[in-house]
Amino acid sequence: MSVAELIEVTRRYGGNPDYVLAGGGNTSLKKDGVMYVKASGTTMGEIDESGFVKMDQKALDALWTVEYPEDKDEREERALEDLMKARLEGETSRPSVETLLHCFIPFKFVVHTHPALVNGMTCSKGGQGWAEKELGDRVLWIPVVNPGYILAKYVKDRVDERLASGQGFPDFIMLQNHGVFTGGNSIEEVDLKYQYLMGKLEESIRITPNMAEEPVDLAVAAVLKKAVQKAYGPEAGFEFKNIRQCKEWLQSKEAASPVFSALTPDHIVYMGHKPLWIPEGGEAELEQSLVEGVSAYEGEFGKKPKTILVQNRGILSCGVNAKEAFLSGILFRDAVKVAVLSENFGGVQFMPQDKIDFINTWEVEKYRAKKSI
Ligand SMILES: [Zn+2]
Repeated sequence: MSVAELIEVTRRYGGNPDYVLAGGGNTSLKKDGVMYVKASGTTMGEIDESGFVKMDQKALDALWTVEYPEDKDEREERALEDLMKARLEGETSRPSVETLLHCFIPFKFVVHTHPALVNGMTCSKGGQGWAEKELGDRVLWIPVVNPGYILAKYVKDRVDERLASGQGFPDFIMLQNHGVFTGGNSIEEVDLKYQYLMGKLEESIRITPNMAEEPVDLAVAAVLKKAVQKAYGPEAGFEFKNIRQCKEWLQSKEAASPVFSALTPDHIVYMGHKPLWIPEGGEAELEQSLVEGVSAYEGEFGKKPKTILVQNRGILSCGVNAKEAFLSGILFRDAVKVAVLSENFGGVQFMPQDKIDFINTWEVEKYRAKKSI
């Protein structure tokens, strides 16, 4: 029964784009010493039992007593090895990168999501102040910490401090520039907590994004498509859109600042850590700027851009294939929503640069990005 409930709750939150996009988010169930956790890169909305990895709860608990090396690469590698060893025999999938965050949460069900509404707050200058005022001691606020073992250990230490001071386990673990963890001993409890959180956030929203699509110039689109194929190869994925909210932003690189850096790890993984800006121009100039711009971007960051802002024309989402371009577009539009919603909480706050660099080079995230295309 519990596993069926886990599948139901995972599909329901995962199938709702207000909560989860692409391969983001994850859920777990603890039952009879076994933790079922979403496999890495699996899509929540379509999950079945095979999308979960069964982990030995005792082996996971034992991880907290291991002294890992100081060096961050060695540390993450060793912790990942131990995580893989904590799988029950016969399990072949890789558990979610956030498994370690699930295992010490005492609730039977844990549902972790990245809603735009929540991230409008977690990616804002006033987010922590809002959360602590509106949610009181039901929330534990976690600043940006590199993902992996180090994040889980940081959260666990904060939780332990809280418990030692006599406070209860938090209902909401709010990860700055990332999303929220909540849980319950029944699905009803999980739903009630999400309803409470979303209701509180909605009460504070005055400014909302205008996501209406506007037509693009088809001649320009054709030129850009040709240039994208030149830069990415014949299989390249291509999507060119115009959104009302971005009209003023596309006037200049400065005006586009609300979407010019990374909001959360998922935005980095799917739409790239930073868009490429292409100035307005005639057909030949546009093609040249795009091809040269992509090559300069690749020279600087070691990868091609997945989001290209074309001045006064539209937003180009691209990638090695159609799926990569499609996911990039979805995450870009989410970034637009998050950036606008953050205005209700004091304005947008991007991830710190060193944390962006870490994700860009993180092996686990590369695996996840590859798995979903
Ligand atoms: Zn997450």
